[in-house]
Amino acid sequence: MSSREFKHFEDYVDFLESRDPGAVINAMRLVGEREEKKYITYSKNVFIPLCNWCRNLCGYCTFRREDYRLMKEREVKEILLKGDRYGCKEALFTFGERVDENPKVREELKKMGYEGILEYLYHLEDWCLNNTNLLPHTNCGLLEYQELKMLKEVNASMGIMLENSSERLMETVAHRNSPGKDPKKRLEMIENAGKLKIPFTTGILVGIGESSEEIVKSLMDIRKLSEEYGHIQEVIIQNFRSKRGIPMENFKEPSPLRMLKVILVAKMILPPEVSIQVPPNLNRETGQLFLLAGVDDWGGISPITKDYVNPEAPWPEIETLREYTEEAGYRLKERLPVYERYISSEWLSERILKKIYSLYRE
Ligand code: SF4
Repeated sequence: MSSREFKHFEDYVDFLESRDPGAVINAMRLVGEREEKKYITYSKNVFIPLCNWCRNLCGYCTFRREDYRLMKEREVKEILLKGDRYGCKEALFTFGERVDENPKVREELKKMGYEGILEYLYHLEDWCLNNTNLLPHTNCGLLEYQELKMLKEVNASMGIMLENSSERLMETVAHRNSPGKDPKKRLEMIENAGKLKIPFTTGILVGIGESSEEIVKSLMDIRKLSEEYGHIQEVIIQNFRSKRGIPMENFKEPSPLRMLKVILVAKMILPPEVSIQVPPNLNRETGQLFLLAGVDDWGGISPITKDYVNPEAPWPEIETLREYTEEAGYRLKERLPVYERYISSEWLSERILKKIYSLYRE
């Protein structure tokens, strides 16, 4: 195994299952030989958790609340303006899936003058584009083709976590009560984003009871869509974190070695232009090692808002992240929420493209 090339599905699975230290060293060498990266990128963002209700009940979730909160327009605008003053370039709008299936949320939206959450979202993103230098990125669970099409006008990029393409997990504590985590529907949305030429972020969640085969299959499914449509700009490899009170609180978190191997496998399976991202706030002790295994993006880092999905894990200061990155031999570089190769009329709405040219190009 230790000097073997990786070609087939089984090669990746065997590697993930292997207890041979030589296999890890071999994979690190293979990835290192293929890579020429100098920079590790990040996007300076603000986080807008528009509503923390969700129709799903994932076994690992700490974001969802039955006694939810829908952010008021004034609050959102304040965060956006503050982000603008701090030089942020990305406004990450995130909320639970189909929050307006909840009659109380629907009623509240109605009182505010909106038919549904996406109408409210569109209004806020339109305001963001008209009044700040921030570019919206939306991640709010499953969306239909027409909804993606509408939101493309006001988003620089969009995303949804695949989590895992295993149907089996729909029968387990992770996704048993989450109809929106049906991998067929998630893959269909990622495909629709490809058809609509939306620069896109997806990812897998590691440590939710999946097998090595299921990890490899998920990455291969993402690769297939990426090869067909070319729209996947980055893939997040996120580690499950156990938190008190969640249904999966007794699940073991993936070990650093497991994460390292999954990152190596992702790097070998995915097309070379697709970035691999790990959230640094969830990988403080191991993040530098993951850079050596192929990670080349830290994702959104907020100087002013916390990570509402993982509130116990504060974002590292950007200067701390710079030192951390440089110690591993790379340079930290800010990027926009849309990657450079997508900045063209082929991929972006006229409005977004104009804004990028007027603000961020010579
Ligand atoms: S879809 Fe997201 S917000 Fe909804 S329950 Fe699952 S993890 Fe929580």
